[in-house]
Order: sequence, then structure tokens, then C-alpha cells
Amino acid sequence: MNPYWSALARELKPYVPGEQPRIADLVKLNTNESPYPPSPRALAAIRAAASDDLRLYPDHEARRLRATLAAYHDVTPENVFVGNGSDEVLAHTFAALLSQEKPLLFADVTYSFYPVYAQLTGVRFETVPLDASMRLNIADYRRPRGAIIIANPNAPTGIALPLADVAALVEQHADVPVVVDEAYVDFGGESALPLVKRHPNLLVVRTMSKSRALAGLRVGYAIGDAGLIEALTRVKDSFNSYPLGATAQAGATASIEDEAYFQARLADVIRNRAEMTVGLQALGLEVLPSATNFVFARKSGFSGGDLAAGLRERAVLVRHFAKPRIADYLRITVGTPEQTARLLAALGDMIAAAK
Ligand code: PMP
Repeated sequence: MNPYWSALARELKPYVPGEQPRIADLVKLNTNESPYPPSPRALAAIRAAASDDLRLYPDHEARRLRATLAAYHDVTPENVFVGNGSDEVLAHTFAALLSQEKPLLFADVTYSFYPVYAQLTGVRFETVPLDASMRLNIADYRRPRGAIIIANPNAPTGIALPLADVAALVEQHADVPVVVDEAYVDFGGESALPLVKRHPNLLVVRTMSKSRALAGLRVGYAIGDAGLIEALTRVKDSFNSYPLGATAQAGATASIEDEAYFQARLADVIRNRAEMTVGLQALGLEVLPSATNFVFARKSGFSGGDLAAGLRERAVLVRHFAKPRIADYLRITVGTPEQTARLLAALGDMIAAAK
């Protein structure tokens, strides 16, 4: 152990991101990136922002981007917070809102960054088990709690909670902050954004990394009551006043303005998801119903770890979590039809070899 580390650095159990290897001809289906490029208008805006003006600090309030997001989501700029990826927005949310006297509640199977932020920000939490079919029951959250966070659709299961349930959850817990992480909602979930105006305890967190194919730009945002947004801004301005560079602000704004391209690529991914699901089922895999750009699937008689390792040998990368309840599953990002064909061929190969 290095003697210079703080107690905090020693105790942290950091999140492990999916690998980003450089393997020739790799089919990369492990980190839920888009298989399609970002909007050409976003790329043009990023190139235009790469100018002499980069000697200046960016707008620390990201006013143009926040105004564009506000108009797009029918709220005001005071309802919008932007950050360096939704991971950063979530980290600030833990410090600004989810740190309460009573424990924070989240599902036992959900985004594995939540316990990491909790540790970093000193938030006490309890996990609430999903049911046997990996669904969230809001009745299970009726217990002592200081705050709640859910991912909807959930990750890594891909399963969406109906809007009526989200609304009931937000109402039943009106005395505490409720955060809904909608990283994947564009692919088929029902957004809680229409509830924001009526519920000052609701914060909705979004990302441009998945449905807008801008994972490399690092832009996420949150929408909620101005009072909640003010708390996030206080934390941000105690951490880094300029989380979004000028190129990121420009690219993100242009992406929001290119609705036609956005809708076309969403339709592509949703169509590819249906094809991938049918293909996996034909190979005998059980596939959970996905409202996201990935599927969560398992094959009886095979361990998830072995399947992931075998696929990696065949240059197909998927995500496996060696964790209770989900160790049998693979989380597979929806790719292009060509990538799906490579995945299915590799899986078919391995299943045939095991017979
Ligand atoms: N929330 C969920 C549920 C996710 O799966 C991810 C992606 N790992 C994120 C948030 C963070 O995404 P980003 O930081 O790229 O916005």
C-alpha cells in the first residue's frame, strides 16, 4: 500500500468501465455505444468550435446548450443542469441531493456506479431486490429512506418501468428526492420528464452518450425543479466550474437541433434490437424484454463468464458482470446488422462445439 494515499483513496472500490481495446476487426458490443456516427451537424459544430477561441474559457453556465435543452424538453433553462457525462451529473447528484440522514434506496441489480458514488460521497444506502423476473416493484420502497434513485429503463436488465409506476413512486415519496436515471429512455422507455413540473422532488438524468452517439464528447444533463438544479450547481461550482469545454457545448447543442437524424438512428437501433433478439432466441438464449440499446441474455447450461470469454476469443466483446443474480447473463450492445451476424455466428459456433 502506498504510504501517501488518503484514507478515502485506500477505501474506494472504483467502478470498472468496459474495456476499450484495440483489436483488429473487433465487434465491440460491451459499453452500449452507438454503432452509428453522431449527427453530421454535431461534428460540423465541433470542428467550427475548434478555433482560436479555444484560448478562452468556455461559458461556465453553458447558456446556449441549456437554453436549447430547455426548449427541446419544454422547461426553462433554470430547470437544466449540464455536466461532463451523466456520470459526473450523477456524482454531483449524490453529493447535492442523495446524501440524507436516512439511507438512499436503489435496486440490488442496477447501474453498478451507484454504490461507488455512495462510497465517494459518504452516502449510506440500502439495496431493494428486484423480483424474480428482474422487475422493480415500487411497493418495496415503502420503508425508511432519505432518497431514492432508479435507472429507467434499468441497466443492465434493459427492463422499463411504466410511467404510471414512476409517477406513483415520485408521489409516494414526495418528502424526499427521487432521481430517475434515463440514460437509455430514448430506445423505448417512457420518460418521467412530463412529471417534473408538478413534482419538486423529481430529478431526471439524461446522457448524450447512447442515443446521440456522443459518448466521446462527454455530455450529460439533468432536468428538475429549479431548487434541485441550484443544489447541483452549488456542488459543481465547488468542484469544477467548467466541466464542459467549448467543443462539447457546441456539439451537444447541434445534436439536439438535428431531430431528423436522431430519430432515424433511433429507428435503426430499435430495428436491429428486434433482429438481434430473434437471432439470440433462435440459438436458445433467454432474452429479457429490452427498452434500451442492449439486451440482457443467458443460455441455460452455459456460464456467463465462459460465454463472454469465448466470444472475446472470437473478437466479439460483450459485458459480463460476475455478481450475484446476474452472473449467468451477458449484456450485449445492439450493433449493426453485420455486427449482429458476427455475434450470432460466434455464439452458434460455441454452442455447437459444446454439444
Ligand atoms: N447511467 C447509466 C444507467 C449508464 O449505463 C451509464 C453508462 N455507463 C451512465 C449513466 C453514464 O453515461 P455517461 O457518463 O456516458 O453519460
